[in-house]
Amino acid sequence: MTLSDLISISMTLGTGIIIFANIILINVIAYYRDEKDSLSLYGISFLIFGAAWILYIGRVFGFINAPIAFAALLFYLGMLSYYVASCQFLKKRPNIYFLSAFVISYLIIYWSPGASDSMSLRSYAQTLMTSVVYGYFAFIFYKAFRNSNNFGHIICVVAHTIILISEAFRLYLLIDKIEPILALGFLVVAHTIAIILNSVGIMTAFSFAHYKAIRNLSKQDSLTGLLNRRGFFSLYQNKSTRYKEVAVISCDIDYFKTINDNHGHIYGDQVLEKIALQLKQHTKAHFSKESLVARWGGEEFVIALFDSSINQANLIANALRESIYHNQYQINGQNFNLSLSFGVAHQAIEDVEIEDIINQSDQALYHAKSNGRNQVSCHSELSLSS
Ligand code: GH3
Ligand code: MG
Ligand code: MG
Repeated sequence: MTLSDLISISMTLGTGIIIFANIILINVIAYYRDEKDSLSLYGISFLIFGAAWILYIGRVFGFINAPIAFAALLFYLGMLSYYVASCQFLKKRPNIYFLSAFVISYLIIYWSPGASDSMSLRSYAQTLMTSVVYGYFAFIFYKAFRNSNNFGHIICVVAHTIILISEAFRLYLLIDKIEPILALGFLVVAHTIAIILNSVGIMTAFSFAHYKAIRNLSKQDSLTGLLNRRGFFSLYQNKSTRYKEVAVISCDIDYFKTINDNHGHIYGDQVLEKIALQLKQHTKAHFSKESLVARWGGEEFVIALFDSSINQANLIANALRESIYHNQYQINGQNFNLSLSFGVAHQAIEDVEIEDIINQSDQALYHAKSNGRNQVSCHSELSLSS
């Protein structure tokens, strides 16, 4: 046995250890985490890679005598399930054209008449196919990174690119007829690094996505999807440094308790969802600068409009009041009308804390309520009249 044989065999054994370590790691993590589906699919794909590896090693040592096409079949099945797992992980649909091209190429390379006679042609085709597939994997992870800014996806891009480059290198070696065993050693090293890197990437991406989801949950109202108070204050602190003045609109559904009493809480929840959506859409449609829309608790909402004049805020509050009052709502086949009362306050950001501005818009809201509801009241006019 030559030195290069030894290198290649120990490298291949090394890859096997890494593959099986991945099987254990990913399956154990899948068991303990919520996102069982995609991670268990990754686990399955690594299991198939592992089986392909055993078949390959068995052939090298002569204790398994299966045709090379079976090892290849397992290897490509591993790639397929790996692709499906990645799609599920990235929450995208598997591409049917890609899947068909993959299966057809495999059939042509390994099972077409005469394929087994032409070893070198098959090697070229196989290398080319693997390069294309890993290039495509790198591409979908790159696209996912562009959408999510998730750093783990970039690690996966690097891992797949390493395989792509090493496959391209193999093609070069095949063409130049360099000693294949050395080439194999190199490929195994490259694949081993790529596999480790890819698992690190998947775990990083998974943890990052989890972290972001939990962070967002803590800032979001679970019923309406609007910001909750914590989310409102956190975003206000970030954004307020860029603006000079802010207008705050507080609003509260009129006689909401009777809706609950007459139709039940579930029905009341659906009303809250509808109103929240309308407040958000209407604000975005009528105010071109930055705004925050939050559920303040119960059936009360707070809207912050950055760099809005008091007149602009009054106009928006009035437009909101009109559109909600004249809208006919329908839930479970029942029609009904609603109204909201509004309070508006406006201040220079430097002068007043946001909590104080919200207090002022709340006072104006209270005034609108006691004045008969379904109206907009402005804090500055309140001060003038008192
Ligand atoms: P007003 O015009 O003075 O605002 O009268 P109101 O009935 O709207 O005000 P009140 O504060 O008396 O009642 C608010 C009701 O909102 C009481 C509470 O049961 C209901 N509520 C608070 N949070 C929720 C929720 O998440 N879902 C549902 N369905 N009801 C809620
Ligand atoms: Mg109310
Ligand atoms: Mg209330």
